[in-house]
Amino acid sequence: MERIGLFGGTFNPIHLGHLRSALEIKEGFDLDKMFFIPAALPPHKQSEGVENATDRLEMIRLGIAHSSDLGVSDIELKRSGPSYTIDTIHHFRSISSDDTELFFVVGSDAFLELNTWKSYKELLQLIPFIVMVRPDSECNDINIKIEHLKDFLTSKVSRDFAYIAADTCYAHPNMPSVYIQNVTPLGISSTKIRESIHSGRSIQFLVPKAVEEYIKTKGLYK
Ligand code: ATP
Repeated sequence: MERIGLFGGTFNPIHLGHLRSALEIKEGFDLDKMFFIPAALPPHKQSEGVENATDRLEMIRLGIAHSSDLGVSDIELKRSGPSYTIDTIHHFRSISSDDTELFFVVGSDAFLELNTWKSYKELLQLIPFIVMVRPDSECNDINIKIEHLKDFLTSKVSRDFAYIAADTCYAHPNMPSVYIQNVTPLGISSTKIRESIHSGRSIQFLVPKAVEEYIKTKGLYK
């Protein structure tokens, strides 16, 4: 039986926060592989300032070049129009064997906006989620974040989600579980990286060296 993680995002650009979290989730959930899935046009993010798909994909390739545990899928970039996770999960389900377990990996900030995603309830019926609890400028307290996740699930999805402490997940009688996973807090975001480049500051140690060089050579995010 194979266990595969699917990690969606804009990756504009990929950074060490993404890479480190992906690896920790892969190890923590005993996954065989974790795939980064860059979105073509982020439907709920402004597409202004998003570098073209080829560059974002190439930076992911450079970022994971030395890790066989991590992979990249260009499925959303090949589809025309905006990327919807529900279509991506249907795609992975259709190409995976029946005994392959798929997990969708997402940061807590993105998960709390899930109700703005296409067919989000169907999505939650389709695949277990792994929610990475991610610190941000507004809230560093992980327990408060977990409380927000609980409120979100019970108010927006179903009252029947219950927390199972032993598995650190919210379980439901008829739906896949939503796992909560702490990752090493790295206060890195693509926004911060773009802002640093824009204002002429260094991005060394925020992204892999090869990604830093790619951005410099191609003059991205200026
Ligand atoms: P932006 O600043 O442009 O919004 P981002 O850094 O949040 O970008 P995304 O491509 O939007 O990156 O993120 C993809 C996924 O990775 C999201 O689910 C997000 O929550 C998660 N993520 C991003 N940065 C981190 C981090 N430092 N630690 C853990 N998860 C992260």
